[in-house]
Amino acid sequence: TEETLVLVKPDGVARGLTGAILARIEAKGYALVDIRLVEPDRERLERHYEEHAGKPFYEPLVEFMMSGPSVAIRLAGNRVIEGFRSLAGTTDPTSAAPGTIRGDFGRDWGLKVQQNLVHGSDSPESAARELGIWFR
Ligand code: ATP
Repeated sequence: TEETLVLVKPDGVARGLTGAILARIEAKGYALVDIRLVEPDRERLERHYEEHAGKPFYEPLVEFMMSGPSVAIRLAGNRVIEGFRSLAGTTDPTSAAPGTIRGDFGRDWGLKVQQNLVHGSDSPESAARELGIWFR
């Protein structure tokens, strides 16, 4: 079995979608190994998003992630890294497919581009690194 880091980002928590997102994760059969409400500081977010440092959306992204609490989830399951990203849908909610979290609940990126409800690790290496940042 495999583990991944999932975040319900500040927009998901603020909009009261944590339960709906968790319901989809549980219905898929993934196991919640650990879960916590987090209010990350800049230092933690800079480590989490280090691969994006210098990109135009980096600073607004870090600011957005400090705008309110997120829910961090250690999630386990068979091929859960790929599987959760498939549940989440593509990065931009405007084009995410219906049936995905971002496709069904995500608001048009014309409004506020960083807001796409969830994060999921993109590889086993990222998952190990990110789990170390959010669950110590
Ligand atoms: P995540 O890693 O959060 O699951 P992702 O892998 O689909 O999302 P990345 O390319 O890793 O997307 O970008 C990380 C996050 O940065 C995105 O989830 C989004 O919040 C923000 N982001 C990415 N691209 C843009 C962009 N062009 N404009 C604004 N924000 C962006």
